[in-house]
Amino acid sequence: MSIGGNIEYINGLKEKAAVKSGRKGEDVLLVAVTKLHSTDEINEAIKCGITDIGENKVQEIMDKYDRVDPVRWHLIGHLQTNKVKYIIDKVSMIHSVDSLKLAQEIDKRAAQHNLTMDILIQVNSAMEESKFGITTEETGQMIRDILDTCPNVRIRGLMCIAPFEENPEDARPYFAEVKKLYDEFSKLEHPSLDFKYLSMGMSNDFEVAIEEGSNLIRVGTMIFGARDYSKKMG
Ligand SMILES: *Cc1c(COP(=O)(O)O)cnc(C)c1O
Repeated sequence: MSIGGNIEYINGLKEKAAVKSGRKGEDVLLVAVTKLHSTDEINEAIKCGITDIGENKVQEIMDKYDRVDPVRWHLIGHLQTNKVKYIIDKVSMIHSVDSLKLAQEIDKRAAQHNLTMDILIQVNSAMEESKFGITTEETGQMIRDILDTCPNVRIRGLMCIAPFEENPEDARPYFAEVKKLYDEFSKLEHPSLDFKYLSMGMSNDFEVAIEEGSNLIRVGTMIFGARDYSKKMG
């Protein structure tokens, strides 16, 4: 299958899942995850209608940035505070905020560039040791601390990576739990909070995630094929 064919196929499944949860396909944003894929493949995806791409490493964004056609960049992987400065003027949203310290560094760098950075709080509802993210219990306090101290940050919602399940149905409770939190905190009123994105769902589980309320899916493998981890992309 071609990249364009894969995108078309995913859009069909996205539409079906959205309709199941009382929405339209266009209510769910498809972010193409381009890590370890070449700039030629990325530009092909953009030609086929992709408007948003996700990378999980700062270095890869830096390496590819100038050779990718105009598109919105999302940082979706773990972000170290000392690397925020490299991407602050390149990405349109950071999905992986999991500490106040990181939010404050983003705030500081955003202020230096005279911009407001959109962020999502990464919630680890399954509490897997191997994953980053805060617990569901910590989420409220984290949001309030960020609102109190980070005027150049705007909290746009939540992000979660469900545990990998052979059967994606088994991930459903994790998505449902994060959706509950999303609904709860979207009611908060604050100039620096404007919930719009619930970032949940990857190649293996995005249909279930959408059914549970996701409105932003991060899909790599199903668009570009398997990643070659022995390869370092430039
Ligand atoms: C790699 C990655 C994805 C995409 O995973 P696929 O299984 O290839 O669709 C989504 N989200 C994050 C945070 C990732 O690192």
